[in-house]
Amino acid sequence: MERVYQFAAGPAVMPQQALRRAAEEMLNWRGSGLSVMEMSHRSPAYQEIFDHTVSLLRDLMNIPEDYEVLLLQGGATGQFAAVPMNLLHTSADYVDSGNFAHVSMKEAQKYGAVRCIASSREENYRRVPAVDAAALDPKADYLYVTTNNTIYGTRLPALPESGNVPIVADMSSNILSEPCDVRRYGVIFAGAQKNIGPAGLTVVIVRRDLLGRARPETPNILNWTVMTEKGSMLNTPPTYAIYMAGLCLEWLRDEGGVEAIYQRNLRKAKLLYDYLDESRLFRPIAEKSSRSIMNVTFRTGSDALDAAFVKGAAAAGLLSLKGHRVAGGMRASIYNAMPEEGVKKLVDFMHKFEKNTVEA
Ligand SMILES: *Cc1c(COP(=O)(O)O)cnc(C)c1O
Repeated sequence: MERVYQFAAGPAVMPQQALRRAAEEMLNWRGSGLSVMEMSHRSPAYQEIFDHTVSLLRDLMNIPEDYEVLLLQGGATGQFAAVPMNLLHTSADYVDSGNFAHVSMKEAQKYGAVRCIASSREENYRRVPAVDAAALDPKADYLYVTTNNTIYGTRLPALPESGNVPIVADMSSNILSEPCDVRRYGVIFAGAQKNIGPAGLTVVIVRRDLLGRARPETPNILNWTVMTEKGSMLNTPPTYAIYMAGLCLEWLRDEGGVEAIYQRNLRKAKLLYDYLDESRLFRPIAEKSSRSIMNVTFRTGSDALDAAFVKGAAAAGLLSLKGHRVAGGMRASIYNAMPEEGVKKLVDFMHKFEKNTVEA
């Protein structure tokens, strides 16, 4: 089979430049005689790979010096527990904008008082709920948001003004997709498998003054302070995933960085949404003001037609367009590594499918 266009939500499409480079270096990393997979994580060669990945991420996101970058395991889901364990002592405010936000809030409830200050759950998360500044607790340990809701295809339109309360953000599905002022956040975390690299790596960016607050029962492996002291190597890190993430970040740098990819992402999303707004068959699911540029959700209104579309698209080399099981319909995840050509092919296929269906 030829290369296809992969619209999966994660693990997701990767830059071909990174995959090719990894293939070239698979058996012998730059004359070392070893595959990266075979290297000791304590070796100087591996430390160089690790540092390179961190430094690319710092450059691309303009991460200030007073923020630590941790490369961990356990996924975004691990951080759902790590966040309260590292920060929750009195009370935390959560914005319930999607399934992952909800799961994270439930996880935090195991560790202390959690307030849900805004929710769109009743509307099946079609939009990101508005956050009323008056609802925020000025004494909260943190305010928790999800910047992009992967399952529903919504994006937080604006970050709430939280005063001195640090904002903790799950950025799993839109990190590096658009410019982001890291200074506005206390903590940013993301599972890598959407927009950074392969699965197995979790990135945590934490402002240094938020370290040292972990609850005593926090496992070392989830303890940001311990992990900072150990340079993310308390134990064996996901060595190969970190290397691959580095190759993906090199690609992003070569493409012109975050601002350049953002412009491309806007064009890709516009192509799809413009078509969806006009279509006689497909309807966009997310409310306009909350639309994500990374995950685009839509449906026909008929489960049978949805299924026929997903099947037909797969046969045409457009893969994984089925929506998440809790949301239904379709979802096209168009992360950084999805070329514009892939989105054009998808829209062409949708046109054809619409024509055949509406005129049949
Ligand atoms: C995918 C995703 C998660 C879950 O990530 P894991 O790495 O599988 O734990 C959490 N939050 C968001 C926003 C996601 O997109």
